[in-house]
Amino acid sequence: MSVMRSVLLAISENRWMRSHGQNLWFVRRAARRFMPGVEFDDMLAAADTLRPHGIHAAFTRLGENVSDWPEAEYVTGHYLGAIDRITAAGIICEPSVKPTQLGLDLDTERCFENLRTLAARAKTAGNYLWIDMEQSPYVDVTLELTKRIRAQFDNVGVCLQAYLYRTTNDLKTLREQGIGVRLVKGAYKEASSVAMAKKADVDENFFTLAVAMLEPSGRPASFRAVFGTHDVPLIARIQAHAERAGVAARGVEVHMLYGIQRAEQLRLVKDGATVRVLIAYGTFWFPWYMRRLAERPANVWFVLKSLFA
Ligand SMILES: Cc1cc2nc3c(=O)[nH]c(=O)nc-3n(C[C@H](O)[C@H](O)[C@H](O)COP(=O)(O)OP(=O)(O)OC[C@H]3O[C@@H](n4cnc5c(N)ncnc54)[C@H](O)[C@@H]3O)c2cc1C
Repeated sequence: MSVMRSVLLAISENRWMRSHGQNLWFVRRAARRFMPGVEFDDMLAAADTLRPHGIHAAFTRLGENVSDWPEAEYVTGHYLGAIDRITAAGIICEPSVKPTQLGLDLDTERCFENLRTLAARAKTAGNYLWIDMEQSPYVDVTLELTKRIRAQFDNVGVCLQAYLYRTTNDLKTLREQGIGVRLVKGAYKEASSVAMAKKADVDENFFTLAVAMLEPSGRPASFRAVFGTHDVPLIARIQAHAERAGVAARGVEVHMLYGIQRAEQLRLVKDGATVRVLIAYGTFWFPWYMRRLAERPANVWFVLKSLFA
């Protein structure tokens, strides 16, 4: 892991920086590149601009590790209202939620209830609930909660991280159970005992896992295979494999983050792939933004540029 990436990820987890970093005006200005705004309406307006290009949207209200129960309830209520508003607006926009924002650090059962309530509302609305994956100590409990919710609702998928050694086995189980998977490389600082340290190894593992996700034989109808990446050569490799394997072009579903690889999003739509852009909003954006900087340390220049602009 590069030194810069380690430093940025350490900053993202620093308690003082988490509560004060977002008050720095130049960081706020630079973060706008990845967030259309802090309000739900900003997200909705951004989703609306993607629609004419054939790009779908997903949304997340930034926040994690809530430390009091009323906040977890508030966030759950917010997502319920958001699903209703999206349904009323007729926009295809899928919620993507972090279990620790719904109270996982406080009470697993109550967090399960919050997730279940969201899955139920999404089901009624014909929508789909994505559950994000956080640091490695949360993986077991997140998968457990996902499987319990999937036992009641089929409109639920979970993120898996290609950098974790365990993901090959986790994918196998989820695929067998027909639980949707959004495969990503992984955004957190992890020990080398649990996660691959070399980027080339992570990239290769992503491709190997992608091949397993696209394998037609024994694939339950409800298994949704999604690739959450901005890695253009990797996506091209997956598309080429899909074509060889006889998977229809739209069967390659790629999710990207708002503000990254916009030209590639349009190219993929032209190719017939399904493209969805995850739009983030909310006021607690600092750790999330630091992870975006860590993914591409060159982004730090944008922060410095906005300091001197
Ligand atoms: C829809 C979605 C959901 C996600 N959910 C999770 C989750 O639940 N848990 C989790 O751990 N991680 C999540 N991630 C983040 C993911 O783990 C990676 O950290 C992130 O996607 C960067 O990896 P990459 O696959 O784009 O490849 P990389 O090899 O990092 O990047 C490939 C190329 O994409 C561009 N790029 C990538 N990131 C940036 C950036 N920040 N700024 C500018 N350009 C960039 C660059 O051109 C880079 O060369 C999610 C990502 C997406 C797209």
